[in-house]
Amino acid sequence: YSYYNENTILYYNGEFLKATEAKIDLYGQSLHYGYAVFEGIRAYKTASGEVKIFKAKEHFDRFKRSCELIHMPYDFNNEELIAACYKVLELNNMTEAYIRPLAICPPNMTLKAADETHVLICAWEWGAYLGEKLLRVMLSSYQRPNPKAFKIESKAAGLYVNSILASQEAKSKGYDEALLLDIEGFVAEGPGANLFYEKDGTIYTPAKGNILPGITRATVIEICQELGIPLVEKQISVDELYEADCVFYCGTAAEVVGWDSFNDKGFAKPWAQSLGKVIQQAYKAKVLEKEFDRAAIPA
Ligand code: PMP
Repeated sequence: YSYYNENTILYYNGEFLKATEAKIDLYGQSLHYGYAVFEGIRAYKTASGEVKIFKAKEHFDRFKRSCELIHMPYDFNNEELIAACYKVLELNNMTEAYIRPLAICPPNMTLKAADETHVLICAWEWGAYLGEKLLRVMLSSYQRPNPKAFKIESKAAGLYVNSILASQEAKSKGYDEALLLDIEGFVAEGPGANLFYEKDGTIYTPAKGNILPGITRATVIEICQELGIPLVEKQISVDELYEADCVFYCGTAAEVVGWDSFNDKGFAKPWAQSLGKVIQQAYKAKVLEKEFDRAAIPA
């Protein structure tokens, strides 16, 4: 599967170019050391028929913060970058797409502070990244990176080798996805998604500090507030997860996706009757700008 073909157009440093004609420098430290920052954003064809990028401002605010956290100069205007995203969608005739901004530094092998940042924006059609079915998740042998070794709230490219290793391990053992703990042994997140679980009518999620504070996570918190579902952010142990009524992952690419099992152990509630399912439907409604009627969900 290729994310582009000979007709694909991308944005690079203020220009719209054919993907097959764009070039990067093979001597750049972004490539050699993973010193780059990315975002993952989704555009939806909303109920009115209009194409809308979900939480574009929040994603570009994080893009800027991610760059600043690792000292990549950021002198872009986010409104212009958002307009460039819409233009990329239009030039590629896309209505539902995954949008990938990437900030890279030109050659700078001396490792002094970066002096220039370049921005790429490309888009591709991407279905649910973890699939539509419930996930069989295993506890990873990898931990999330040490917050004292890295700016873990930066979506820096190099950090994602950790995510790749954890997903590869899970898939090689026949699971769909991994769960990683933080360096203190508490539940952190998936390789590319935040975690929530339901227990006795309350929704729980790991507190900030050892996780990427996802934009979908913030949306799920908003949904809980709107629907009057009690929500608690706290440190979560592995044992609490085994005792959960339901567990789900959420992220821009994954959206809201329920778990089938954790280390082969199922959960107390069938997904169809869980609060996770209610939140999943409410999330879909929100991104599509549709009315959400909680009464339509089985109790
Ligand atoms: N955690 C990690 C490690 C991620 O890579 C992502 C995806 N960006 C998330 C959580 C979810 O973040 P968001 O909802 O902003 O996509």
